[in-house]
Amino acid sequence: MSKPRVAFFDFASCEGCQLQIINLEEAVVDVAKLIDIVSFREAMKEHSDDYDIAIIEGSITRPMDVKRIKEIRENASILIAMGACAHLGGIQRLSNQWTPEENKEEVYARHPGAEHTGDDNPLFEKPVHRAVDEIVKVDAIIPGCPIDKNEFAKVLIALLTGKKLPIPDYPVCVECKKNENICMFEIGKFCMGPLARAGCNAHCPTTGNECEACRGFIDNPHEKAHLEVLEKYGLSADEIMRRKSMFTHRYIEEATSSGSSPEEAKGGE
Ligand code: SF4
Ligand code: SF4
Ligand code: SF4
Repeated sequence: MSKPRVAFFDFASCEGCQLQIINLEEAVVDVAKLIDIVSFREAMKEHSDDYDIAIIEGSITRPMDVKRIKEIRENASILIAMGACAHLGGIQRLSNQWTPEENKEEVYARHPGAEHTGDDNPLFEKPVHRAVDEIVKVDAIIPGCPIDKNEFAKVLIALLTGKKLPIPDYPVCVECKKNENICMFEIGKFCMGPLARAGCNAHCPTTGNECEACRGFIDNPHEKAHLEVLEKYGLSADEIMRRKSMFTHRYIEEATSSGSSPEEAKGGE
C-alpha cells in the first residue's frame, strides 16, 4: 500500500515550526516509515500538488491567502494546523485591534530605517489575521510557539493509525506542580497556566517565566481550570483570559463579536 503523501504550506509565520520538523531527529524515523513528504519548501526543492495530508503553518491574512487555503483544503483528505499562528492567529493577530495606519505608524515611524512597501497594493489595504479553522475545516491541531517536534510526530502517527490525538486537555499548572516550581503568583508575576493547555511540560514557569498560553486554552476552561491556583490567588478564569492576549487575542475577538465572555467564546471552539 502506498504511503500518504504529505505537503507543508506556510502562510504568515516565522517558519519556526517547520524548523522544528527539520530537527525531528530520532522521531523522524517513526514518521518517515509512515509518510512520503512531497512538498516542504524549507527542506527540499521538489514540489507536488498531489498530496493527501496538508500541514499548515501561519495565519491567514490576505484575500489571496483565503483563496489558497481553500484550494489546499479541497486537495487534502486531512488538514493539520501547526503552531500558534495557524491554531490561534499568532502574535500578529494583536494587530487586528488597530487600523492599518496605526500599525504602520507603530512599526515604521518609530523605527528609522525600516521601509514600508505595499501601499499601492490592494492586498495590503487591511490585513486581518485569522486562524486556519476560521476559514476551512481543520482535522487536527498541533499547538505551541513553536510546536514540540515530538508532539508533531505523535499527532501524525495517531492520525495515520486511527488513534486518539495525544493533545492534553488539562492546564499547564498540572505539569508545573509536578515540576515542583515556585508559582509565578508567589513572586508577584501573572501566569496563564491555570487555563493554558498543557503538553509543554510547563516550559515557561519551569524556566522562570510567566506562561502566555501559546498552546491556547483548554476546552471548557471554567470547569477544567486549575481551581486550586485560582482560589489560592483569588482569580477567576475570566480575569486570566482578559489579562493577557499575546497568543490568545482570538478568544477576546470572538467574545467581542458574539457579545459573550472570552470564557464562553472559548467553549465554542
Ligand atoms: S507558531 Fe511561533 S514558531 Fe511557529 S510559525 Fe508561528 S511564530 Fe513561528
Ligand atoms: S499559575 Fe503558572 S506558575 Fe503557578 S502553578 Fe500554574 S503554571 Fe505554575
Ligand atoms: S508554559 Fe505556556 S507559554 Fe510556555 S510553552 Fe507552555 S503553554 Fe506556551
